[in-house]
Amino acid sequence: MREGVEYLAAMGVIPVLRPITIQPLRKDELEATRPDAERLLKLALMTREILDKYGLRVEVSQTMCLTCTGCDITPYRDI
Ligand code: SF4
Repeated sequence: MREGVEYLAAMGVIPVLRPITIQPLRKDELEATRPDAERLLKLALMTREILDKYGLRVEVSQTMCLTCTGCDITPYRDI
């Protein structure tokens, strides 16, 4: 996970990590386990650390998930 976040951050992209949610109509086709709260917090803190490393700032974003924060733990806005 760290490698993917770092890859995106290195090119100036702020990654938005989202826990998987299987659409109920596809529950027989797919298998996945939602990460627990502890892992989600750990990943959000890791993302925050990587954003700092690359000088990326969530608080200046003006669109989409980074400003909405409705579906994810957003570094700097939530934690
Ligand atoms: S509701 Fe907000 S956080 Fe969720 S997908 Fe839409 S813009 Fe992103």
